[in-house]
Amino acid sequence: MSGGRFSGPSRGGSDAPEIPPLGRPPMPSVSSPAPAAVDAGDESLVSDPIPFPAAEPGPTGRPMPVLPEPRARTEHGGARIIALCNQKGGVGKTTTTINLGAALAEYGRTVLLVDFDPQGSLLVGLGLNPHEIDLTVYNLLMQGDVTLDDVIVPTGVPGMDLLPSNIDLSAAEVQLVHEVAREQTLQRVLAPAIEKYDVILIDCQPSLGLLTVNALTASDGVIVPLECEYFALRGVALLKTTIDKVRERLNPKLEIDGVLGTMFDGRTLHGREVMERLVQAWGDTVFHTVIRRTVKFSDSTVAGEPITSYASSSAGAEAYRQLAREVLDRCHGV
Ligand code: ADP
Ligand code: MG
Repeated sequence: MSGGRFSGPSRGGSDAPEIPPLGRPPMPSVSSPAPAAVDAGDESLVSDPIPFPAAEPGPTGRPMPVLPEPRARTEHGGARIIALCNQKGGVGKTTTTINLGAALAEYGRTVLLVDFDPQGSLLVGLGLNPHEIDLTVYNLLMQGDVTLDDVIVPTGVPGMDLLPSNIDLSAAEVQLVHEVAREQTLQRVLAPAIEKYDVILIDCQPSLGLLTVNALTASDGVIVPLECEYFALRGVALLKTTIDKVRERLNPKLEIDGVLGTMFDGRTLHGREVMERLVQAWGDTVFHTVIRRTVKFSDSTVAGEPITSYASSSAGAEAYRQLAREVLDRCHGV
């Protein structure tokens, strides 16, 4: 029906072309004084207006900070556990788990990826054969005699291991209900991994059920990947409520490490508007790094490799390296 952008319709203008959305400050027309050495006639000058003065806003509209090179680590352990969580599917949780993990490993971190989604996508996304896997995180959760070392498998990325999952995990959701301290089960079984790894990333399933509550209870931080699309913004309040409840009742140390805009298309007004809304709602919790939409991610999944090795110099690989630097910068000591 009538053009109902989520910033609210601005009716009444007769035939105004391309009405800017409400709340968007008009771009100042930089008229004076013309910068000296611009090579007139260069067709590359047709992109976005150049901001004035030189402080370039990043894709989130805020000035892009200089992210320090991560310090080298000579010893490992004391892992920060980070859950990648959003009850909506298809927002980039698994893609971010794999590629952030691989980028952190490139920076010399020892990384454990925990697949906590019964779809078991991490195995496939990392090019491993699900049929060759005997034990999964399900066995670790439900069988007292299975240890982490029995279940963890190496990935093709040096320094990065995987705690795999498969469809069995969906049964755990039901079976755990009858356990004592059912919300702390993952925390308990992951505890021995903390001394070996620098970062543990938990890829959550798209729900806010008991498995996700287990992931949040086991974690120090949460990263919320959010597709830069209007409907993706809905439901984030519910996620925030769940995180707050877990913090209050089960895990007082739980922090939101950041909200990550994924599948961003800065060429569309819609993409930019969603980003603006995201920053309005979440402020500096939103990562400066934004992951743009590109088919390279699907291609690298099919190839069973992180984008950092599949297309090492691509913009997508660089974006996840930048995210890794941002995460390390935010989480001092990792
Ligand atoms: P989730 O784990 O939240 O369900 P996925 O990471 O599996 O989401 O991503 C869903 C689909 O979107 C996958 O096919 C993936 O390859 C693709 N995808 C993820 N991130 C991007 C991106 N930045 N650009 C384009 N496609 C993406
Ligand atoms: Mg997933």
